[in-house]
Amino acid sequence: MQEFENLVAVVTGGASGIGAATAARLADGGARVAVLDLNPDAADGRFIAVRADVADRASVEAAIRDVVDRLGGIDIVINNAGIGAQGDIAANDDAEWARVLNVNVTGIARTTAAALPHLRASRAAAVVNTSSIAATAGLPQRALYSASKGAVLSLTRAMAADHLREGIRVNCVSPGTADTPWIGRLLEKASDPAAERAALEARQPHGRLVAPGEVADAIAYLASPLSRSTTGTCIAVDGGMHELRLRPE
Ligand code: NAD
Repeated sequence: MQEFENLVAVVTGGASGIGAATAARLADGGARVAVLDLNPDAADGRFIAVRADVADRASVEAAIRDVVDRLGGIDIVINNAGIGAQGDIAANDDAEWARVLNVNVTGIARTTAAALPHLRASRAAAVVNTSSIAATAGLPQRALYSASKGAVLSLTRAMAADHLREGIRVNCVSPGTADTPWIGRLLEKASDPAAERAALEARQPHGRLVAPGEVADAIAYLASPLSRSTTGTCIAVDGGMHELRLRPE
């Protein structure tokens, strides 16, 4: 029997990048996967793709109802949808602060709350949130984004405490800079994309960008029914960026 057989997984932001790699990894392991995304047409055809905006409660609740109608329940929620923000604390106005926190933080609470009755009914319930190296390392010009991802880390631990006795595990991953369309868009905007890419690669001790599939494997580990004793924790997938201090070569 495959690891995720007979389990239903919801992946927000599953039409691109880390979310798409995670949806594929869970499906390869036997899960039936529903992708909730602003852009469902971009999702791989082997998943159920539902248009949903994690920033909007009615949209999320309708999407979760749709998934349950079609797949019969929900065992795993991967809260991966997220957006970026650049600049220091003065760079974004109140509306932008509210928008980014709404997607990156409240979106996780909203999506998981909508799925909660189904998670409570599951015998292998797991939630995995996508935080970031920006939660634990001070990166320049990422004030709002870092605040949102620090909140994801704290929220993960609080959720894990609240739902442990209901049999729901909650964990997160903390990727370093990952080679996804998101980073592609950032590089396109840089005055010298090749130099910018080289700088991002050099920032990580292992000297390259993280592959989306590497993050997906960590998410799959945390979501797996084999990981029953793992809750309230965060796995860094960052080439050593958070923990290591190498001397220059
Ligand atoms: P991506 O832009 O390639 O994919 C994000 C997906 O989320 C897209 O399909 C998009 O349509 C969807 N999405 C965005 N807003 C949404 C909303 N309001 N409702 C529903 N779907 C929405 O990005 P990615 O690089 O794969 O990033 C995925 C997650 O990983 C994000 O939470 C991001 O913060 C985090 N992360 C990324 C990196 C990186 O370097 N790429 C590093 C650390 C953490």
